[in-house]
Amino acid sequence: MRIILLGPPGAGKGTQAKILAGKLRLPHISTGDLLRQNVSQGSELGKQAKDFMNKGLLVPDELIKEMLLQRFAQPDISAGFILDGYPRNLRQAKTLEEMLARLKMGIDFVIDLKTSEAVIIQRLSGRLVCGACGFNFHVKNMPPKKAMACDHCQGQLYQRSDDKEETIRKRLAVYVNESSELIEHYQAKKKLYSICADEDAQLVLERIVALVENRNDSLKV
Ligand code: AMP
Repeated sequence: MRIILLGPPGAGKGTQAKILAGKLRLPHISTGDLLRQNVSQGSELGKQAKDFMNKGLLVPDELIKEMLLQRFAQPDISAGFILDGYPRNLRQAKTLEEMLARLKMGIDFVIDLKTSEAVIIQRLSGRLVCGACGFNFHVKNMPPKKAMACDHCQGQLYQRSDDKEETIRKRLAVYVNESSELIEHYQAKKKLYSICADEDAQLVLERIVALVENRNDSLKV
């Protein structure tokens, strides 16, 4: 099964994708996580991406394409994948279609996680991320059992440098600007499903699982 999770920053794409990937035994491919790995390793790609990320801007499409081509060359994607954070605009959607056509693959579900602005700001300004396994926590909504330590791997938690309110607003503006064409594109292809993602993570997960297990067409938009 091949699933794309769409939605603004703070919609919970990363959280949902990680849990869903474990449940469905599919690889979770997050372009944001791949970029952050490159930044922390100091790779050439990381050096080129870092400034864009810190300003809340999109990293140029060509860089992301190269990074994804490498990821899609790995054998684990033959079972399917959950794509989180890509595509971010119509050009990327078309690039993805070309890449997948070469692999003779298509997309089964594009799930739009609809989230209100107040919820986004509240979630992102309190988000904590595990530096080792990438799992997300929240100071209030989902606090770790031990302060600043990951429940799953004991890794050290940190706040992302782009989770400051000013950068969050910039990232949101970029999303609003780029996403409408993308959403229309998948709607026209009859792949788009919409889920309200304002509630807590467990409830949203149940909605996603019900959708992919039963192909609930009442959520199609
Ligand atoms: P995320 O972890 O998905 O919130 O992404 C963090 C940052 O990485 C974004 O604000 C962008 O700067 C960059 N990024 C992630 N995915 C993409 C993408 N598909 N295209 C361009 N930039 C991206």
